[in-house]
This record gives sequence, structure tokens and C-alpha cells, in this order.
Amino acid sequence: MSATPSTAVPLCDLLTQYRSLQPQLEAAVTRVLASGQVILGPEVAALEEEIAAYCNASHGVGCGSGTEAISLALHALEIGPGDEVILPAFTFFATAGCVARTGARPVFVDIDPATFNLDPEDVAAKITSRTKAILVVHLFGQCAEMTPLWRIAERYHLPIIEDAAQALGAEYQNKRAGSLGLMGCLSFYPTKNLGAYGDAGLTVTSDPALAARMACLRVHGMEPRYYHKYLGWNARLDAVQACLLRVKLPYLDTWIGQRQAAAERYHALIEQHHLTDWLERPTIAPDRRHTFNQYVVRVARGERDALVRHLKSEGIGCEIYYPLALHQQECLAYLGYKTGDFPVSESASRCVLALPMFPEITAAQQERVIASCAVHLRRALRRAG
Ligand SMILES: *Cc1c(COP(=O)(O)O)cnc(C)c1O
Repeated sequence: MSATPSTAVPLCDLLTQYRSLQPQLEAAVTRVLASGQVILGPEVAALEEEIAAYCNASHGVGCGSGTEAISLALHALEIGPGDEVILPAFTFFATAGCVARTGARPVFVDIDPATFNLDPEDVAAKITSRTKAILVVHLFGQCAEMTPLWRIAERYHLPIIEDAAQALGAEYQNKRAGSLGLMGCLSFYPTKNLGAYGDAGLTVTSDPALAARMACLRVHGMEPRYYHKYLGWNARLDAVQACLLRVKLPYLDTWIGQRQAAAERYHALIEQHHLTDWLERPTIAPDRRHTFNQYVVRVARGERDALVRHLKSEGIGCEIYYPLALHQQECLAYLGYKTGDFPVSESASRCVLALPMFPEITAAQQERVIASCAVHLRRALRRAG
């Protein structure tokens, strides 16, 4: 084992949470193994119901990952070649990758500089006769501005799909992420608000026909057995992941509260260390419950990459979500966008930095993170004269 300096702070610590729930998690796994039912089955059905209820939706369809959740939603709407889907240029790749892999064209819109979420005005400007859906992302754990999107969706009769992978538990005007559009796509990747011990995902909806279609698509579009109604694929969720998620779900709101408290501490620490000009703190937009899946600051004056090197050298975890906007990704070059097309997204990709964030992070760990930022940034300030 390499020696970890005592000042090290991980970007995300999954083990503290695991240890706090270890007996319950292990008992649940034992129960599933002894049941002999390890794919779909009652554990998955129970999780689907519990997550749907948590999101204020009536149906849930469990699947293998957040990526599969988005793919199921798109395929359930029969989106494919010749269609266009509007989505932000600044998000995790999966949002666009799922659209492109249906054969439809991802049509990017720029983001709001304050929240990093998509800019509704740009959505209105990008609608064409080929537009089939708006894929809104609730980035970093905060819901996008929905009211103008609802108006656009109604005016053009377009479905809204939510990529709520980072935002389980987030709210907009007291309504839960996942029930703000026609379908909400969730990820249980281990670092998300509710993390599995492997890959898992789920789509929630209050439309029974769409739920039934997604449930069929995830098993090769098969109904009845060996008669294939839709061109589906294997997007199933396994029972071990479902039972582990069911153990954790009752703690989700407590963990979100701890994330919010940690975000408040960062907010205060950045001020106490006189770094507000250097580290622009996240904005909580009105009417939102921000779940702080990530605590993302903007680093001013081109210091971001040097600050990352400094933090890494001190054993402090940090990450750049995301260093390239999606229209700049190599595999999406065929879409024909160019650098300069989405200036707010591009500028975000140059200055964003995610600091360590997980429910169990301590005040002392956060103090070390900000003190370490302060050391580097004061040095940079002196250099600048
Ligand atoms: C994590 C994530 C996904 C994909 O989820 P997986 O479970 O990793 O497939 C999709 N969109 C966003 C915004 C994400 O953060």
C-alpha cells in the first residue's frame, strides 16, 4: 500500500457509508442469493415501486445503468433516424451518446452560466419539424429551469425526457426530478446520490403504456416468451443491485441533507479564506432543492489547471466535469459543429472544478480542501503581482 498523507481527502468516499450499513447490506444479498432469483424478479419490482413513489411517478422500470435508462426512454418514443433531439452541449457524454446511437441527431443548446443547466431560450430557437423530444439534464444535482421548457413542450407538442442521473431527490417548485417530464432517467452508479455496488439504472414515468413498452424493450422486446414484438435488447437490472439499493433508499434524504450542509460549509470556507474572487461558488436557483451530487466551482483567471495539479500533489481529490463540451468530442465531429458554437459551455469546460463531496465528508476535510486551494491561489496572486 502506498502511504497516504494524513491530509489526503478523497473526491468521494464510498467505504464510510458501506461500513455504516454493512450488516443490512450483507443480509439483503444473502436473502437474494438464497432466493435463486437473481435477474429482475420481486426485488427489482419492489425497487421500481419504491423509486417511482419517491419520485412521485406511478411506474418505474429498472435497467442496467443510467445509460440504458435514457436509451429505453428514447426507444419507447420510437426516436430514430431522421429525428432530432434537443439536449445541452455541457453534460456527461451518455446523454448525447444515447441519442446518437438511436440514429437520431443530437441538437445541442448552450447552457445558463449560473447553473450549468440548459438555456431554455436556446431550446426554443433550435426546434424544427424534425424535433422529437427535449432531453433536459439536471446537472450536478440541481433541476433545470422547467417552466419555460414546459411552455415550449406544450406549444410544439414535444415530450420532455429528464436525464436525472445526478439529481435523484432534486426538486423544482416542490416537484421531484423524474416527474417533471414524460419520463425521468436515473443512474445508480456508485457515486450518484443513491449508489449501487456496480451498475444500475431506472426510468420512472406516469404513463403506463410507456412503462410497459420499456419493460418489454429491456428484455429484447419479448412478449410473450420468444415472440419479439419490438427490436429490444438486454437492459435488465439484477436483483443483487436492487436489494442493495432498497437497503439504502430510506437514508437518501438524510444523505442529501448532509450534502447540502457540506455545500454550505464550503460556501462559508471560501469566504473565510477570502477566495470568493478566485472560486466562484455554485448558484442555487430559486424554487430548487439542490442535491449537490457534485460541488462545482468556477476557477477564475485561468488558474484551474494549475490548481488541479496543486490539489493532486497534496492528495486532495478533485475532478473536471467536463473538460470538453459535447460538440467538441471526437466521435461527434460528424454532427458538423465547431468550437465557438456554444461559448457558455466551452467557457465552463475551461474553468469548472468539482471539489470533494460525499455525505460523510467532515468539516475538517473540507477545511483542508479550501486551505490547500488558498495556498495555491495566494501564490498565483503574488506571481501575478
Ligand atoms: C452518470 C450519468 C449518466 C449515465 O449513467 P450510468 O449509470 O453511468 O450509465 C448519464 N447522464 C448523466 C448526466 C450522468 O451523470
